[in-house]
Amino acid sequence: MSTPFNLENEDFRNHLYNQSKDGKRLWIYPGRIIGKLYKARTVFSWFLLIALFGLPWIQYHGHPVFMFNFIERQFIFFGVPFFPQDFHLVALGLVSFLIFISLFTVLFGRIWCGWACPQTIFMEMLFRKIEYWIEGDDKAQRKLAESPWNSEKIIKKTSKHILFFLISFAISNTFLMYIMGNPEWLKMVSESPSLHIRGLLLMFIFTGVFYFVFARFREMVCMVICPYGRLQGVLLDNNSINVQYDFKRGEPRGKIQKNATNDHAVGDCIDCHWCVRVCPTGIDIRNGSNQLECIGCTSCIDACDEVMDKIHKPKGLIRYDSLNGVLKGEKLRFSKRIIAYSSILIVLLGFISFLLITRKPWEGTLLRTPGMTFQLNEKTHEVTNMYQLEILNKSFQNESFKILAESPFEIVWIGKPLNLVEKGKIIKGTFFLKTKEGKWTRGKKTYITVLNNNEQSEKLKTSFIIP
Ligand code: SF4
Ligand code: SF4
Repeated sequence: MSTPFNLENEDFRNHLYNQSKDGKRLWIYPGRIIGKLYKARTVFSWFLLIALFGLPWIQYHGHPVFMFNFIERQFIFFGVPFFPQDFHLVALGLVSFLIFISLFTVLFGRIWCGWACPQTIFMEMLFRKIEYWIEGDDKAQRKLAESPWNSEKIIKKTSKHILFFLISFAISNTFLMYIMGNPEWLKMVSESPSLHIRGLLLMFIFTGVFYFVFARFREMVCMVICPYGRLQGVLLDNNSINVQYDFKRGEPRGKIQKNATNDHAVGDCIDCHWCVRVCPTGIDIRNGSNQLECIGCTSCIDACDEVMDKIHKPKGLIRYDSLNGVLKGEKLRFSKRIIAYSSILIVLLGFISFLLITRKPWEGTLLRTPGMTFQLNEKTHEVTNMYQLEILNKSFQNESFKILAESPFEIVWIGKPLNLVEKGKIIKGTFFLKTKEGKWTRGKKTYITVLNNNEQSEKLKTSFIIP
């Protein structure tokens, strides 16, 4: 998506906004803005924060509602346990999520970054607010930073960083609860630390990382690390809704000219830089919305609306719109790309729903023992083949199973027959299928029936080799 008007100076593309010419980090002090969109974002982010911090405390049948235990490869979504054997569902879910993100970005640009990304929510709605509360607005913060280390500065900086550390500690523990589940986390914090060295180490590493990100690294996450920001250039087109500066109305920018004879000598932008001052990544939205640093936070919309109010001009010089909207006044069109993404997404979601609905709470796998063919007992004229059966109990309760063979076969277990499978566990068993010589035809398939609690059954197909 190219910038549709000629910028005389495109130097802004050659460096990061938070970097000086000699490569030093320039600290950004975004101005404080409280507009309509900021208020809406605040309400929405409180809802998300309550959900994020509250969900690990909700138990369903004694288990967490969500758990992402990557270490032990156990996952719970909406109270339903998933195991590595459900990897196909995870893979399909990830593909659908990527298509959803692409579709969403094509339609609404970086709305995710501004409204729902945890980095933005934590930074702008928690850490930044604490900073404003303790140190004051951008001017006061700058003044404090430049002032010598007197008692006021020491008290303000220390209390701010203590609060930052405590919030990072709370976020770290919440993430740990999502990874290990609330019951395990409670055990970790209530039992002797020597029993949970690994968990406690993770807790402090996470705390350190969060503290560093929100106290120091900040907008660099969006500018340098986040891969999603880099995808924007590929995904956005002229039809995508984004935070846009209406250059047709705003340019040529310039101070208000009293007694001007020509109303159109200058545009509506009075070049007050308020939109730049409030930007948390320090960019100038008037250089175009295709700047990867723009996180779509809407602060510049609120800031400019405030200015337009003061100079008695219509709001919306910066607004949510597409480039086509600014250029031609066009509304969002359902382009071929949107239709293609939507269709693929609908098909994938339909398929995943089908797999979820038909997903059984257990799974059986039957294999004829590799490398073996048949065994013939020449005295009794009996033929046997050896098999391995594996049953995974994907539910939260212990399940009992019964294994049956079709005529003319009989099952002879090697060791204990498979019977009870504990919740979340896999059990393996080995058995022979036995029949009399001449009772079976070469090449035919037979079935092993697995009965769960004498009800739900599954037939597992296999072959039987004869001399
Ligand atoms: S806040 Fe509005 S008027 Fe002021 S510089 Fe930005 S776009 Fe122009
Ligand atoms: S340009 Fe506007 S929307 Fe983009 S990050 Fe800056 S303030 Fe937020």
